[in-house]
Amino acid sequence: MSNNSRKLIIASNRLPFVLERDGDSWKLIPGSGGLVTAMAPVLRDRGGTWIGWPGIAGKVDISDHLASASTSAGFDMKPVYLEEEDVKQYYIGLSNEVLWPLFHDLQSYCNFNPSYWQAYIDINARFARVISENAGPEDFIWVHDYHLLATASELKKLGMQTSIAFFLHIPFPPLDIFAKLPWRTEILHSMLAYDIVGFQTLRDRRNFLQCLRTFVDDISIEGKGQVLTARSGGRSIRIGYFPISIDYDEFSHMAESREVADAAWYIHEDIPKGKIVLGVDRLDYTKGIPYRFRAFEKFLEEHPDLHRKITLVQVVVPSRRNIPVYEDLKIEIERMVGEINGRFTRSGWVPIHYIFRSLSRPELLGYYRTAEIALITPLKDGMNLVAKEYCASNIEQSGVLILSEFAGAAPQMKKGAILVNPYSIEEVSKAIFDAWRMDLRERRMRMKKLQGSVAKNDIYWWVNSFLNVSIDRKLDDFPPV
Ligand code: UDP
Repeated sequence: MSNNSRKLIIASNRLPFVLERDGDSWKLIPGSGGLVTAMAPVLRDRGGTWIGWPGIAGKVDISDHLASASTSAGFDMKPVYLEEEDVKQYYIGLSNEVLWPLFHDLQSYCNFNPSYWQAYIDINARFARVISENAGPEDFIWVHDYHLLATASELKKLGMQTSIAFFLHIPFPPLDIFAKLPWRTEILHSMLAYDIVGFQTLRDRRNFLQCLRTFVDDISIEGKGQVLTARSGGRSIRIGYFPISIDYDEFSHMAESREVADAAWYIHEDIPKGKIVLGVDRLDYTKGIPYRFRAFEKFLEEHPDLHRKITLVQVVVPSRRNIPVYEDLKIEIERMVGEINGRFTRSGWVPIHYIFRSLSRPELLGYYRTAEIALITPLKDGMNLVAKEYCASNIEQSGVLILSEFAGAAPQMKKGAILVNPYSIEEVSKAIFDAWRMDLRERRMRMKKLQGSVAKNDIYWWVNSFLNVSIDRKLDDFPPV
C-alpha cells in the first residue's frame, strides 16, 4: 500500500462541532478552544476522519447533520455517543474534576471519587471501538488529550497493531503532585501503550519521565534531544515535546481585512481614553482571572494619574457551565468587576469592560489588532494560543505581551514578552506599568521577535514535526481526499 492511502485519524473528546437544540431539532455549531482551532485547518487541507463526542448526552439521530457538517468541513466525522451518566462520571468526573485540576497543579479542586475511574476506562474502550471500526491497517491514529489517556491500551486489547500516537494538550504535573492521583500507576501504564507520546514543553516531558522512573519498575530511558526512547515491558515508546501553535498566516491576513480594521476602529472609538489592556480566556480557574483583577486594581491604586488613560477589556468565553466550581468562578469574577468598577469609575470612564460571551472572529481580531497590551496570566496553561494569536494579529507591531511564566508558550515567547509570575500581584501590576510606558521602538522590536517566532513555528510546523517523528512522514504525505 502506498503512503498516499494512509489517512489521518484524529480522536478527541469532542468533535469539532457541538450540537445545540434548535426548537424540536438540532443545529451544529463550530466548537471553540485550542485543539479545534489548531487541527481543523490541517484536516481541511489534507482530508481524514475525526472521531469524538458530539457534545450532548444520549443517542440522538444526527447522521444527516454530521454528513453535511463533514462535507462543509472537508473531512469525515464519526460520533462516539455518551449517556448522561457517562458524562457525569467520565467527562465531568475523572476528566474535569480530577485530571484537569491535578495536571494544572491545582489539587485543591480535585474530587477523587472512586467510581470515576471505571467509567473513564469504559468510555476510553468505547472510543477505541469506534476508532478500530474506522481505521485501516495503514492509517495513522492520533489521539488527543487528557480525556483519552487510556485509549491505546484499549485499542491494543482489540488487537490493533498499527502505531498509535498521543498528544497531551495540557501540562503534565510535577512528581509530588502527580503522586496524589489514586490511579497513578494505571495512568502511566496506559500512556506507555502508545507508541509515541507528545507533550507541549520540555518541562512537561521532564515531569512525565520523573513519574515513570518513580512508579514504573522496568523503565529505562535513552537518547537526548527533542525525542527520547523509553523501554518498558519489552516495548519502545518515543517521548517528545512539540509546542502547539496557530495558523499564523490566516490570523495575520485576516487582521489586515477591512472587517477587522473596522472592528478595531470602533473599539477604540468606543473606548477613546488611552490604552486598552486585553484579557481573553475561557471561563476557567486555571486562567488566573481573579489574580489579574487584583493586579489591575493595584495598578489603579498606585497610578491615580493614569486613571482614564487605561481600560481593561476582559473577554470571558463561557465554558463547562455544568460544573459547579465554574459557576462559582463566574460569580466571583462578576463580583470583582462590580467591586473594582464601583470603586474607580468616573464619568466617561469605566476601568474594566467585561464581556461574557464568545466573540465573532472579526471582533476578536479587532481586539487583538488594536489592544496596546495583552495581559495573559494563567496560573498554569498547556500552551495558551491566545498569546500567539494576539501577536499574529497585531499587525501595527506596537502591542506589548505580558505573559505568565507558567504558560506553555513562555519558553518560546520569553525574548519578546514581559514574563510574570501570575500569583504576584505586585509583579503583574508593575508589568502593566512597564508596558504602558514602553517606547514604540522597544515595543516594535519585541513584537517583531514574537511574530518571527510564532510565524516560524506555526501549526503546520507543529503537525509536520509530530508526523515526522512519529511515522517518518510529512504533512504532504496525506493528500486531500
Ligand atoms: N476564542 C474563541 N472565541 C472567543 C475568544 C477566544 O473561539 O470569543 C478562541 C481563541 O481564538 C483561542 C481559543 O479560544 O484559539 C483559546 O485557546 P487557548 O489555548 O488560549 O486556551 P484554552 O481555551 O484551549 O484553554
